[in-house]
Amino acid sequence: MRSWKVFEASEVLKEVEEATPQPTGSEVVVSVSHCGLCHSDLTLWKGIFDMGDRQVPIDSIGLQRPLTLGHEILGTVTAVGPEATGVEVGDRRLVYPWLGCGECDACRAGQENLCMQGRPLGMRRPGGFGSHVVVPHGRYLIDTGDLDPALAATYACSGLTAYSAIRKAMPVRPEEAIVMVGAGGLGLSGIVILKALGHENIVVVDVSEDKLKTAIQAGAHKTVLSTGDDVTKKIVEAVGRPVRTIIDFVNNSQTAAFSFPALARGGRIIMVGMFGGQITVPTMRMAQGGLSLIGSITGTLQELRDLVELAKSGKLDAIPYETVPKASINDAMGRLLKGAVKGRIVLQEETA
Ligand SMILES: [Zn+2]
Ligand SMILES: [Zn+2]
Repeated sequence: MRSWKVFEASEVLKEVEEATPQPTGSEVVVSVSHCGLCHSDLTLWKGIFDMGDRQVPIDSIGLQRPLTLGHEILGTVTAVGPEATGVEVGDRRLVYPWLGCGECDACRAGQENLCMQGRPLGMRRPGGFGSHVVVPHGRYLIDTGDLDPALAATYACSGLTAYSAIRKAMPVRPEEAIVMVGAGGLGLSGIVILKALGHENIVVVDVSEDKLKTAIQAGAHKTVLSTGDDVTKKIVEAVGRPVRTIIDFVNNSQTAAFSFPALARGGRIIMVGMFGGQITVPTMRMAQGGLSLIGSITGTLQELRDLVELAKSGKLDAIPYETVPKASINDAMGRLLKGAVKGRIVLQEETA
C-alpha cells in the first residue's frame, strides 16, 4: 500500500510504500476510494492544540509521528479477518472513524466518540490518507447505497459533527430561530441538515460577506455579519428577541463573547468549533437564566447511521465540495490552510 504521512510538524507529507495490511480477528481492510480533508487534519499536521489558556503539543498526549491522517473515509472492503462480521469483500462502505475502547461506560452507552481511551482512525490509528485502512470491526462500516461517494465521505466528520450538534439542540420548533455561527464547511452542513429536518428559521453569523452569500444559497433564512462591536445586538435584532439556541461552529474567544449575551432564559450554546479561545462566564447568570453551555465533538456511530439514512431519504442537499487526486494532498492542505476552499476538499483515488 501507499500512504502520505506526516514525519515532521508542518512539513510536506511524504509518500510511503509499505506492505498492505492483512486483517486478523474481526478486522476489515478497506481500500480507500475517497477521503475528505478536515481542519483537524491541519491541526494535527501542525502538531499543536490551542486549548485557549495553553498550547498543547500533540506528542504530549501520545500522538506519535509519522502520522497517517484522514478520517472522512469511504472505500471498498478488500479483505476481512476470520472473525469479521457484517461485511464482505467488495462491499462499498463509509467508515465511522471515532473508535473507542468498547469497554468503558461511554462506549457501552454508545458514545465511542467520548471514550477516554479512544483510538480514532486518522489520529491514533492510521487513517485515510493512503490506499488502505484497517478497521477493527465491521460494525463501524455503513452502507451508503447510491449516495455520491465523495459527498458521503464527508458525512463521517463534517456532516456528523454538524448533525450531532443539531441533535443536542433539539427539540426546537421549525419556526423558532436557530442561530449558527460560522458558514464554513461545518456551518453549511448544519444548514442543509436543519433544512432536511424541516427547519424554517436558520440564522447564520459569519465575518465574511462571501460566506454569508453561500449560506443563503445553501438555505439560510437570515444572516448577520459579525464585524464591529455590536454583533450581539445584530443577532438579537435578526432573530427578533434573545435567542434560545446558538450552535457555534467557530467557538473562539470572539464568537463566544458575542453569543453568550444574546441568550434568552433557557438558552443554550452548543460549542463545536476548535479554533481555540476562552470566555468568562457569570455564574449567577448561568443559574438565573437556566443557561447551558454544551460541548459537542463529532458524534456517535448511531448518529452517523441516522445521518446516512437522512441522506438516503433524498432530503439532504449537497454541500459544495471538490475532488482532487490523492497525490495532490500537499497542495490541497496548503489551500485549506489559506482558507481558499469553498466547502470540502475530498481526496480521490485516481481509479475511483
Ligand atoms: Zn474532521
Ligand atoms: Zn471506551
